[in-house]
Amino acid sequence: MRKLFFIPVLTAGLLASTLLPTGGLTGTAAAAMEVTAVPAQSEVNPALPNVVILATGGTIAGSSSSNTDTTGYKAGALGVETLINAVPEMKMLANVSGEQVANVGSPNINNTILLQMAQRINELLASEDVDGIVITHGTDTLEETAYFLNLVVKSDKPVVVVGSMRPATAISADGPFNLYNAVKVVSTPEAQGKGVMIMLNDRIGSARYITKTNTTAVDTFKSVEQGYLGAVVGDKVLFYNEPTRKHTTESVFDISGLTELPQVDILYEYQNNGRYLYDAAAAAGAQGIVVAGSGNGSMSSASSEGAEDAGEKGIIIARSTRVGSGTVSSSSSDLARNFVSTDSLNPQKARILLMLALTKTKDAAQIQSYFNEY
Ligand code: ASP
Repeated sequence: MRKLFFIPVLTAGLLASTLLPTGGLTGTAAAAMEVTAVPAQSEVNPALPNVVILATGGTIAGSSSSNTDTTGYKAGALGVETLINAVPEMKMLANVSGEQVANVGSPNINNTILLQMAQRINELLASEDVDGIVITHGTDTLEETAYFLNLVVKSDKPVVVVGSMRPATAISADGPFNLYNAVKVVSTPEAQGKGVMIMLNDRIGSARYITKTNTTAVDTFKSVEQGYLGAVVGDKVLFYNEPTRKHTTESVFDISGLTELPQVDILYEYQNNGRYLYDAAAAAGAQGIVVAGSGNGSMSSASSEGAEDAGEKGIIIARSTRVGSGTVSSSSSDLARNFVSTDSLNPQKARILLMLALTKTKDAAQIQSYFNEY
């Protein structure tokens, strides 16, 4: 029989000191933080899975004084308890508890938050009392967090990252149903072993494949080339595809004990660009540079010179593309220059993999093999 579900109550102060970057939350974000919500043990249904919701802020926790405001609201204004209480129907699916990891717009999710979140998830999933995790997150950088977790979570138990495009205060807010669907997916036995998933707009995407494609539309998350893993249709969770790249329990990347990640910057290619941004990144301590190349990872002559000089200093140059879909091909001259190509990873996800790769090696050939496998 399933044990009683109990997640320790963390106070906002403890969270701020253990789970937030130096300085913690400031201003209204700090004021909006709530203490972890824990379901009363009497409410626990031993027949249901135990799901922990880790809240990080974003539009799904956004609030505005106007219910028609979908652009000028404040992201990360509501706490995890409010999000959970807004969807009491989740209690029919799972025993749900929550923790507030951060309460920020996702452009402010940083490496410190990523590492502490991943470590907490691994701790939770190692417990037999936790069956799955849902992370509420802003959509702007959601795919970066999801792909990071896809590479460092050490469990087959389901992990779903969910967001929304309309704040909680909007007419037809999409957050509550997205959250309900995320808990539904996590509570589905078939969701095990699929890597970290993203749930928005009734579609289940793999963290490896899916990306944000529209600044404001509700159907912004698309899996352009590789397709979705599945969908939630009515009361059914339907899976059609499997992620084929290595993830979670197959991944070699281990962030236990890490408090920082190597600096990796992204530089964008455009006509008439110079080499000075490469020089600046090298001078600022970058250990890797991801190039959002034009076309199939192309670079101007000036950028190539800047990148080659950086490569000679041991900085790994990862050629991705600004195009939005497609695979960047390897070139025979890459490895000798400390260049690698990023397969079909977009620049922001390539940065995540390169940071983790650099925790293991500085060898370009080994790093290229990671891009081929993950
Ligand atoms: N506009 C963003 C969102 O959709 C804000 C954020 O990423 O936090 O959540």
